[in-house]
Amino acid sequence: MVLANNYDVIIIGSGPGGYVTAIRSAQLGLKTAIVEREHLGGICLNWGCIPTKALLRSAEIFHYGQHAKDYGLTIEGKISADIKAVVQRSRGVSARLNAGIGFLMKKNKVDVIWGEAKLSKPGEIVVTKTSKKPMEPQNPVPKNAQGEGTYTAKHIILATGARPRALPGIEPDGKLIWTYFEAMIPPEMPKSLVVMGSGAIGIEFASFYRTMGAEVTVVELLPNVMPVEDAEISAIARKQFEKQGMKIITEAKVTKVEKAANSITAHVETKDGKVEKITADRLISAVGVQGNIENLGLEALGVKTDRGCVVIDGYGRTNVPGIYAIGDVAGPPMLAHKAEHEGVICVEKIANVPGVHPMEKDKIPGCTYCHPQVASVGLTEAKAKEGGREIRVGRFQFAANGKAIALGEDQGLVKTIFDKKTGQLIGAHMVGAEVTELIQGFVVAMNLETTEEELMHTVFPHPTLSEMMKESVLDAYGRVLNA
Ligand SMILES: Cc1cc2nc3c(=O)[nH]c(=O)nc-3n(C[C@H](O)[C@H](O)[C@H](O)COP(=O)(O)OP(=O)(O)OC[C@H]3O[C@@H](n4cnc5c(N)ncnc54)[C@H](O)[C@@H]3O)c2cc1C
Repeated sequence: MVLANNYDVIIIGSGPGGYVTAIRSAQLGLKTAIVEREHLGGICLNWGCIPTKALLRSAEIFHYGQHAKDYGLTIEGKISADIKAVVQRSRGVSARLNAGIGFLMKKNKVDVIWGEAKLSKPGEIVVTKTSKKPMEPQNPVPKNAQGEGTYTAKHIILATGARPRALPGIEPDGKLIWTYFEAMIPPEMPKSLVVMGSGAIGIEFASFYRTMGAEVTVVELLPNVMPVEDAEISAIARKQFEKQGMKIITEAKVTKVEKAANSITAHVETKDGKVEKITADRLISAVGVQGNIENLGLEALGVKTDRGCVVIDGYGRTNVPGIYAIGDVAGPPMLAHKAEHEGVICVEKIANVPGVHPMEKDKIPGCTYCHPQVASVGLTEAKAKEGGREIRVGRFQFAANGKAIALGEDQGLVKTIFDKKTGQLIGAHMVGAEVTELIQGFVVAMNLETTEEELMHTVFPHPTLSEMMKESVLDAYGRVLNA
């Protein structure tokens, strides 16, 4: 393949934001190239969404194996986990999808330029040999990769993603203090772990390692685990985690980490000033991520950034004409589906597709694949009240749902929040089995600005977990049937 030098659209970064944007751009008839320095599919496919879900699936099956008796089944001998094989499966899932992106680029006639891109002037980038060492040689840059050179495009979209944030003095060292990279490929099963931070990434790893048998302590600065979630949902999830044997310390911070040859001691300071020393094999630092805005030439071109992210409008446009940003590098929520959607909006606006709507961040769902799962969209009860809205709240417990009981998953809650005056659904929050699949029903409803009346008129199949969604709506209006 011979690369061109001039394109309509060049996208820097091939994560879910970048590669989806490239496909849409090509579909719209724009001559498109994507630049990638490390691995097609970005963090999501290689080190984020996908490999964690593969690990969590192994943990889930391990859990069911251990509880086979509850389902009337006997497993001869002891079910045990081979962490190397678990990791290998997870890496295999990643590799398969990584190859799939290569195929999609070819199919859509998107040129892949390999190397590290930097904006040199408006409408121009320079690509140099990548300076970044890959974490593992599994999804390598192809042997026939082409890239180094100067390329021009009318529109340049930054989709460079994000990387782990580090706290001063507790910087990850790859050996005793892990980021999500090392936590994804443990060479052996740690017996004990401290997880610093209880956002989605921290809690998913805490859940994985606890289910696999490690002693896990989670330290969270704020009063609730998964602090962005509705407080009631967080509390139910926390209770379940603690029942599984996880130790959770909230309103506390790790102030110092002492390292020994093969263990760490974390100094955990609670809000009353007491310090507890916790010794564990490893510490996972999960205190958030920061945008990859460095070495892109942004300062020289005057592209505005704020707190480590590029500043954009609802269509991904920066303050400099012809330069756009989407996905993690353009700020929270740092989620793959936000990145994809933002990219599609951005390139459709570039192509003047009629009726393109700006990004509506309040309708982006969030899912955490811990056990039990957590999923939400829209306003929490606290946020709705803070905003001065009069609301109606509906709740339905998993314990009253036939399918949940049949599945042996009777712990959880579906909570819905409506605007009292208009009946509009403004928030939905769930904890329990499969809620990450259920939430999309409420996302569609919110997108269509659905009211309680339309939801009550909707027929939900029986027996399903989704029936709880309707029951929760009915409960908000004093009409619940099965509770
Ligand atoms: C452990 C973990 C679990 C997660 N789970 C989920 C989940 O379940 N659901 C969810 O929605 N989100 C999840 N996320 C978040 C998700 O991975 C990100 O939101 C998503 O990857 C962002 O996509 P992106 O396209 O903006 O950037 P990225 O996926 O980060 O991709 C950016 C790409 O740009 C490349 N790049 C950067 N700079 C340059 C340069 N100068 N030149 C060339 N290439 C460059 C990088 O190599 C990378 O491939 C998870 C993240 C982690 C870490």
